[in-house]
Amino acid sequence: MVNTIFDSKTNDDKEKNRKCSITTLSSHCSLQVLKGAKDEGFKTILICEEKRLKFYKRFKFIDDFIILNNFREIVHGRIQNEINQKNAILIPHGTLISSLNSEEIEKLNIPIFGNKWILRWESDRLLKQKLMEESLLNTPKPVKNKFEIKNLSIVKLNGAAGGKGYFLAWDKKSFESGASNLINQKMIKDEDELYIQEFIMGVPVYFQFFYSPITDNIELLGIDRRYESDIDGIGRIPSTTQLNAVIEPTYQVIGNFPLVLRESLLYEAYEMGERFVKVSKKMISPGMNGPFCLEGVYDRNGKFTTFEFSARIVAGTNLYVGGSPYSDLLYDEPMSMGKRIAKEIKLALQTDNLSKIVT
Ligand code: AMP
Repeated sequence: MVNTIFDSKTNDDKEKNRKCSITTLSSHCSLQVLKGAKDEGFKTILICEEKRLKFYKRFKFIDDFIILNNFREIVHGRIQNEINQKNAILIPHGTLISSLNSEEIEKLNIPIFGNKWILRWESDRLLKQKLMEESLLNTPKPVKNKFEIKNLSIVKLNGAAGGKGYFLAWDKKSFESGASNLINQKMIKDEDELYIQEFIMGVPVYFQFFYSPITDNIELLGIDRRYESDIDGIGRIPSTTQLNAVIEPTYQVIGNFPLVLRESLLYEAYEMGERFVKVSKKMISPGMNGPFCLEGVYDRNGKFTTFEFSARIVAGTNLYVGGSPYSDLLYDEPMSMGKRIAKEIKLALQTDNLSKIVT
């Protein structure tokens, strides 16, 4: 089944919009994405788990639902046929990445906004490190194995787990204790699955970028920081209690805070985004198109170390449904990331550039 948005014969822009719909999975940033799509005149479809249907039906900007029991069912031809019959473009987000593995995402026979091939580079720690290094981003030093842990290190699980299960280790023993906790909780099978990285002291900052391959322009649309349980709750416990209770904090994301940066730091932020886009174009065709996020820590000298990237929309953009202090500088209308995506699809339809923005 081929999605017919690619061979729409009409020259009428409104007609093109009407024929094409925008869809995403019912989680993460789906409300913002579909609200933005609706505001730009698209039909909106939510791929919704049955148990969440009652909640999502509250939102009038959702026109239609594709209902499944579990997000993994999207690998089935039946669901993909339904998406194609409805001429929908899928906006990928963190829930797609945590529900399906890279092969499954790459095999999806539906138009996916952005570059589905780069999502593998987000999920695989080694590829991720490679792309960041090639982009000349300053990154935390990877620690080869538990025997090499000499300084404070952060230990991570693979995939978009939202910081769940991450722990700190300062030597082999503390690593083994944290790893065995995860094995007992059945979060990993073996400690080899863990990725160890230098811990960067400072404040975390998340840059929300959008790159348009049609206009060859990069936009910083927002900045946020995360609210993580229970590392952000630890300051509520007096230090003597912390020491006696032996608390092992983790980094699970619960929400996000808005953030504005010292203006003098913005110039470098744009440069990092530009380098990332340029290198991605060379390494993972067709490149880093659409929304992406550079994630890292500013230290006391104002030096930024990037520890992660997300090669698709991040949930921190949910802060800015009505625009952000940065999008307001670029647009004379409230511009959420969801709306920005819809505008790009609209432009691609108008200029016959759809193949540039979907894979
Ligand atoms: P991530 O899932 O990689 O975005 O990381 C979740 C959280 O872990 C971040 O928001 C940071 O608070 C923390 N974190 C991750 N990597 C590092 C690092 N190398 N140094 C310091 N904190 C980190």
